[in-house]
Amino acid sequence: MKQPPWLLLPEGARPEIGGTVALDPAEARHATGPLRLRAGDPVVLADGAGTVAGARLREASKVRVEAEVTSLDLAPQPEGPGVTLAVSVVENRAMDWVVQKSVEVGLRTLIPMVSERTQAGPRDAERRLDHWRRIAMQALKQCRRPWAMAISGPLTTACIVEQTPPGCGVVADHGGEDATSLPASAWVLAVGPEGGFSPSEDRLFLDRGWHRLCLGPHVLRAETAAIVGGAFLVSRLQHAP
Ligand code: SAH
Repeated sequence: MKQPPWLLLPEGARPEIGGTVALDPAEARHATGPLRLRAGDPVVLADGAGTVAGARLREASKVRVEAEVTSLDLAPQPEGPGVTLAVSVVENRAMDWVVQKSVEVGLRTLIPMVSERTQAGPRDAERRLDHWRRIAMQALKQCRRPWAMAISGPLTTACIVEQTPPGCGVVADHGGEDATSLPASAWVLAVGPEGGFSPSEDRLFLDRGWHRLCLGPHVLRAETAAIVGGAFLVSRLQHAP
């Protein structure tokens, strides 16, 4: 059976069974526009913090979309640290794509990384944070994910290496080793910019014992390496004994 579409709860909303929720204007437009929903249609309302409420639209006009809550669930918070992706900030459209796909493949945290050869500076990245967080919330609906992906403020490569517990870091590297040699403890993945990591950053990874993971025979774009590597680590963690 076709599952009802997901929509976002307004910020701070506390749905109750039998109560009604008026959607924010952007969500209302999404509901009546692309989703073509009408009064009576079932929907799921989510907040990215575990709330998953079944609801039925009571009103679906251009000016107001209101839903009556029929069921209420709190999805348990995912256990463990999950997988963190530190990706060197790539150009706008590619980065938007990375954010969206990171939510879909199930990354827990995304760190916009400012490395020595990253084109965008920390200020540029800072300015784009809200935009990325919005994309991440929209992606959550599409893939029906109860808990949102966290996006941290931009951090330098050195900072990320510094704060990663020993043995847990893995750097995507064309010249690295194949996946079978990766220990189960690796859950922070770093992906470099178009120009690669600088020699001093490479040294930092080496000194701190980061594993080097090769993701295939060809040189990938940073955004491809980010999603291929991220999906690999998530799937591996999910099926860990
Ligand atoms: N200019 C660099 C390529 C950088 S590609 C060069 O010519 O070698 C951007 C980033 O993607 C790299 O820093 C690396 O982290 C990742 N990457 C690219 N291809 C990869 C591969 N085959 N395996 C693992 N990581 C890869």
